[in-house]
Amino acid sequence: MKKLLTLLFVLGAYTATAQVEFEDYFFDRTMRFDYQHAGDHATEEFFFNGLKAEPYWGGSKRSLVDTTNLGNHFFRIVDLASEREIYSRGYCTLFNEWQDTPEAQQVRRAYAEAVVFPYPKRPVRIEFFGRDAKGRFALKYKQEIDPESYWVEQFTPRYETFDVAYHGNHATRVDIVVLPEGYSSGERAKFEEACEKFAEAMFTYAPYDRLKDKFNIRAVWAPSEDSGVTIPGERVWRNTACDANFTTFDSERYQTVANQQTLRDLAAHVPYDYIYVLSNTQKYGGGGIFNFYGISAAHNPGFTGKIYIHEFGHLLMGLGDEYVGNTAYDETMYSLKLEPWEPNITSLVDFDTKKIWKSLIEKDTPTPTPATEAYRDKVGVYEGAGYLSKGMYRPMQNCLMNSFRGVESFCPVCQQNIEQYVNWLCE
Ligand SMILES: [Zn+2]
Repeated sequence: MKKLLTLLFVLGAYTATAQVEFEDYFFDRTMRFDYQHAGDHATEEFFFNGLKAEPYWGGSKRSLVDTTNLGNHFFRIVDLASEREIYSRGYCTLFNEWQDTPEAQQVRRAYAEAVVFPYPKRPVRIEFFGRDAKGRFALKYKQEIDPESYWVEQFTPRYETFDVAYHGNHATRVDIVVLPEGYSSGERAKFEEACEKFAEAMFTYAPYDRLKDKFNIRAVWAPSEDSGVTIPGERVWRNTACDANFTTFDSERYQTVANQQTLRDLAAHVPYDYIYVLSNTQKYGGGGIFNFYGISAAHNPGFTGKIYIHEFGHLLMGLGDEYVGNTAYDETMYSLKLEPWEPNITSLVDFDTKKIWKSLIEKDTPTPTPATEAYRDKVGVYEGAGYLSKGMYRPMQNCLMNSFRGVESFCPVCQQNIEQYVNWLCE
């Protein structure tokens, strides 16, 4: 009996780690699963909206199964015939952030979301997971998908597109699609200039400067009816292409898009991995949600470039905010009883999982590390991070995931994590 168990274990391990061959399971285009993510502060449910076929698959054809453990949510595609996981990704959502707001104590709410994966050749099952009280992924919803169904909506291109920075084959690049928010039909030149500035900023800061060749940036020219952006807190409403708004969760500078499906409809015009929305405003602000979308002001006179870099850090791999927050609900975002999955913040509950961070701390650096001149440029474990002044720690005194004023780079922990992740995405 013991021998049999050992054999089964070995087979199991083999199945989990063996390379999924893209051509065996997928066509070279995208399937999109649209759904409503609904609930309140304590519950979440998934309601199916529909399936869409999109013309390009922008992602890797090798890094198909995600074992990084990043994200508050996770979805996987299982081949029905073999029960094998053939694609998976972690991600975060606006719904999940909303669950920590006071409104979620009183109101039930639904957000339109969508996940994408390479187009399956045969029937599959999609499974959605969320984190349980112990921080582990727990199954929340599953549904079978017939890729040959006539209900799969086919894509019709509606907008012009253009390259901002092209460095090669999208299967082995991180492809960013840039979308315009609040640029009217007469403002194309202004948007094109903003796209150039976005690329310039991206490739100015480490590690993106040395990873430049691993990125493509493309834009979709989707003009808005109105020029400018929606700011509910100032009772300013505009009819715009991405339907974004400031004042999210009553935070003056938090700009988001409530309906992620709107963004996917625009993004599908080009091969893409990540959506970044440039908004036609000088107003400081933006937002970035892991593997979901990023958005920010394209014309802020002071910090436009650094805002891009900061929000893209959230979007790319869910880097945590290394600063201390100032609202009550900020304090409920992280539990000090759990190790956060974000690679650049720790509660010290399980610091051993932060391998890159640990490897960068010199032997005699104390934990926690005092934020003094002596440790100014040293990687350590500094108290104050993840919106919390106590019990949560960051790797350096300063980093672009912390603040902008007088800060010109990511800390080495953020840099090395980004580099490793980008290399994985580009396999
Ligand atoms: Zn950092």
